[in-house]
Amino acid sequence: MKTLIQNGLVLLRDENGWRYEKLDILIDGNRIARIAASVAAEDASVIDAAGKLVMPGLINAHTHAYMTIHRNYADDLAFFDWLDKVQKVEDGMTEEDVYWTTMLAVVEMLKTGTTCFVDMTIKSAQEKSGPRSAAAGAALASGIRAVITRGLAGVSDSEESLMKYGQAVREMELFADEDRIQFMHGPHAPYSCMADYLQKLTRSCREHRIGQTIHLSESQAEMDSFAKDKGMTPIRYVDSLGVFDVPVIAAHCVYATDDDIRLMADKHVSIAINPKSNMKLGNGFAPVQKFLNAGVNVCLGTDGCGSNNCLNMFQEMNAAALVYKGANRQAQCVDASDVLKMATVNGAKAIGREGELGVVREGALADLILINLSEPQFIPANSILSGLVYSSNGSEVDTVLVDGKVLMKDRRLTTIDEDEVYRACRGIDERLNMKQITKI
Ligand SMILES: [Zn+2]
Repeated sequence: MKTLIQNGLVLLRDENGWRYEKLDILIDGNRIARIAASVAAEDASVIDAAGKLVMPGLINAHTHAYMTIHRNYADDLAFFDWLDKVQKVEDGMTEEDVYWTTMLAVVEMLKTGTTCFVDMTIKSAQEKSGPRSAAAGAALASGIRAVITRGLAGVSDSEESLMKYGQAVREMELFADEDRIQFMHGPHAPYSCMADYLQKLTRSCREHRIGQTIHLSESQAEMDSFAKDKGMTPIRYVDSLGVFDVPVIAAHCVYATDDDIRLMADKHVSIAINPKSNMKLGNGFAPVQKFLNAGVNVCLGTDGCGSNNCLNMFQEMNAAALVYKGANRQAQCVDASDVLKMATVNGAKAIGREGELGVVREGALADLILINLSEPQFIPANSILSGLVYSSNGSEVDTVLVDGKVLMKDRRLTTIDEDEVYRACRGIDERLNMKQITKI
């Protein structure tokens, strides 16, 4: 199947940074076949992109999609009180609940321009399609691209952790021939996984040729307990166990020290920053400009709805470009160009798909979004780059393609019945008795 995107302004990136040019894009199958000033339609179906920006889909490098169930639920709580409250709900969730809540996340992500997400989830699909297929099944059915990780905690040889690990490996095997669904391991955090478990998962990463993602140095309480118990930072600690010897996406790193940053740069660790979540949970501001100066691959994530409370990467880009300026009292740091790169190019690198995703170029995968430049947020058109980061809100996303397939056209989703998803999620909320009727 061929699709031709005509008359659009195309966002490109080269060694000099971002630029845009009026070009046509021919998609053949799931890849961009040709980009030129004028391409004949021939047998391709045509999308008229006049007045629109054609750009790479955004990559959410750290989220927990099932946590849409926690939206507006456990707000204004201290970090460990918050964790306790959300985990109690999660104990009651089934694979089917994870399927529907992930589908709700996908609805929101597609409508705000995210075409790929790195998910740390709580169930593993034990079948490939249907409501029992958990997060991987929801991603597969919706058409979005995903990197699924099963959040794992505890010790390596308990009955429960052996069972969960076995399910995670089976899920990987089940989806092995789906290029659109990748897997990583997801050790939750160094405070929730014992040392032998972290080592076992790292060995398993090597065996299955995958990476892993882990929450690191997120709160002051975590830093204090590692200083007391281990005499080192959580980042130094996981490195001492060999965790960084495979590709890693480290989420948060709010309290990374200068030594930690050098270490992560040396070990080619990608850091997924989550500015809104860090602010909401009162955890502070990551030293992002230091990460960038050290050459660390910094990517951007929303974290889950329990701590955000939405999955909108335009909001997240906006927060990332603003909060570190405020925290450092320096207007030049973490600029719009850096932030857009985090949400595209760097996210692709973090998941091992550099050059294939996060860019518009011939041969790349056709994960593209069209932005309506006729919205007031882009007028006057002084800088489209600034518009994307500082004034847009995600509602300007008009059309979304993943793997060459149109998943949203004129803001209407083509693969998901939104009403069915909302009905299912309201039912889960009711069953888990989450309504807080004492508060508005
Ligand atoms: Zn997280």
